[in-house]
Amino acid sequence: MTAAAGTAACACLIPGEAPGVAGATGAFERVVEALRAWIFAAGRTDRTEVVAFPPVMSRRTLERSGYLAGFPHLLGSVHGMEGETDVVLTPAACYPSYPHLTGTLPDGGRELTMFGWCYRHEATHEPGRLRSFRIQEFVRAAEPETCTRWRDAWVDRGEELLSRLGLGVRREIASDPFFGRGNRLLAADQRQRRLKWELQVVLRSDVELTAVASFNDHEDHFARPFEIALPDGGTAHTACVGFGLERLALALVRAHGDDPGGWPAAVREELAL
Ligand code: ZN
Repeated sequence: MTAAAGTAACACLIPGEAPGVAGATGAFERVVEALRAWIFAAGRTDRTEVVAFPPVMSRRTLERSGYLAGFPHLLGSVHGMEGETDVVLTPAACYPSYPHLTGTLPDGGRELTMFGWCYRHEATHEPGRLRSFRIQEFVRAAEPETCTRWRDAWVDRGEELLSRLGLGVRREIASDPFFGRGNRLLAADQRQRRLKWELQVVLRSDVELTAVASFNDHEDHFARPFEIALPDGGTAHTACVGFGLERLALALVRAHGDDPGGWPAAVREELAL
């Protein structure tokens, strides 16, 4: 088989009736699992706490995080036959972790890692833009400089890691897809202050690259509402790093072909495939 142009043509995904929601073949799933284990092993330190959350989360937690104000267009609701439900679909693996960090941090702060199914109600369903997908994330809560340094070091490490997979990687300053005109200033401010970086690779097209990992300095955006405090009583900062597993797997298929058995030996060795 030849390298696919994306999800529509990729024999590794099983499209369903809803655009942007796909199943996967066993071969593709093995790649996703290998990527998850590889990223986890590369990022985990003695300090890292491993936590797990379900693919639904408290609506209240998401409201407190500001998500409904910034990204109402991306939210996936959960409905019940009777009344309103108090849960929503988790939009990024890190969101359920912030209430878990509430309280006073130990010296040096805390670091978590989590993996999860995420849902974003994306308006476009072009290849590589799945609505339901998995992310392996790392979250740091600590003093401001510690979080920024950790995030910056992760951009370098992420770039080096992905280049080992034979992917041409570009790093870019980015912004979140805030809702509405009123939020445009937020996006401009985020870019100007370099709060979000992305690693982008060839996936849908050679011209417009696709983000496969993001590196976010939240400053006190989460620490304030969730009351995450430094040992001296000051408000902590948080940062997170997330790798989109389906997108990475699709980028590998695009770069090396549908059959992982035919990928370069160095890549298969790297991922223990
Ligand atoms: Zn995150």
